[in-house]
Amino acid sequence: MKAIDLRSDTVTRPTPEMRAAMINAEVGDDVYGEDPTANRLEAFAAELLCKEAAIFVPSGTQSNLLALLSHCERGDEYIVGQQAHTYKYEGGGAAVLGSIQPQPLEYEADGTLDLARVEATIKPDDPHYAKTRLLCLENTQAGKVLPLDFLKAARALCDRTGLGLHLDGARIFNAAVSLDVPVSEISNQFDTVSVCMSKGLGAPVGSVLCGPGDLIGKARRWRKVLGGGMRQAGMLAAAGLYALQNHVSRLREDHDNAHLLAQQLAAVPEVKIDGGAQTNMVFIHVEAEHSPRLNEYLAERDIRVGGYGAMRLVTHLDVEQSDIHRFVSEVGNYFRQAA
Ligand SMILES: *Cc1c(COP(=O)(O)O)cnc(C)c1O
Repeated sequence: MKAIDLRSDTVTRPTPEMRAAMINAEVGDDVYGEDPTANRLEAFAAELLCKEAAIFVPSGTQSNLLALLSHCERGDEYIVGQQAHTYKYEGGGAAVLGSIQPQPLEYEADGTLDLARVEATIKPDDPHYAKTRLLCLENTQAGKVLPLDFLKAARALCDRTGLGLHLDGARIFNAAVSLDVPVSEISNQFDTVSVCMSKGLGAPVGSVLCGPGDLIGKARRWRKVLGGGMRQAGMLAAAGLYALQNHVSRLREDHDNAHLLAQQLAAVPEVKIDGGAQTNMVFIHVEAEHSPRLNEYLAERDIRVGGYGAMRLVTHLDVEQSDIHRFVSEVGNYFRQAA
């Protein structure tokens, strides 16, 4: 029986075609700027997102950190969602390594920030305060797609107030595919965008940070400082390039599978669906007494799910429609035998 892993879209394994691209990649020393495949990936990503430049980095965490270090100086602050990856799930890197203070605000139900509150949070130029320098958004945010009108309003706010605007676009392609727009319609609203190729796009490693030449130049310096300068990086960059060229439009299948999953689970009365299925994530919860037992029951059947209180189910490259049917039927079986 095939194992089904719905914990995250990071669990995908490179396809045979992607592995072939990695093995056959032309390489050089990327710290000297001489890796042709890394250079090709950076040029490709920059053009796709309509940015001047891009830099290939080992992880999304490093990519976001480089953006924060490049936009902000010591004693500056960035405004960010309370549940944002760049605030909550990156070990406080901006504060630890950059002396940059986060100013978190609660997300609205749709994953946006209330822009009036953002504006009211910008600190006056006064030595008592950190200097507010940057607004940081996330798209998709917990699987939710930020509306284009909101992005335009955020852009206008940053133009008016002189803030930089960074997007943690770990899953920006899920957002673009869901809206059925070119990814540049989203990326155009931001100064810098970080994109993960190791999520639903299926690469084993790697993110790209895209933005203006001067900021990406600063990021290149910080990448070296953080130990992210890789040598024959082309073998990894080839996977990212392959992912960007071949795995974007198929994200629609993941969204369809997530939709199917939510639809089928709605027929299981013990399962409450918390929303989701806008892209590739479904959030559910079950009564507390069932939560660990259901996870165990599924694990015994080689099915893995993510749970931080509520259960997060993520569809990806290695999940097929038949896996969704088997998952739902095992959840049903669990509740029948528990009754
Ligand atoms: C995964 C993720 C990142 C980056 O994570 P890495 O594991 O460091 O690549 C950043 N932001 C969001 C929203 C993510 O889901």
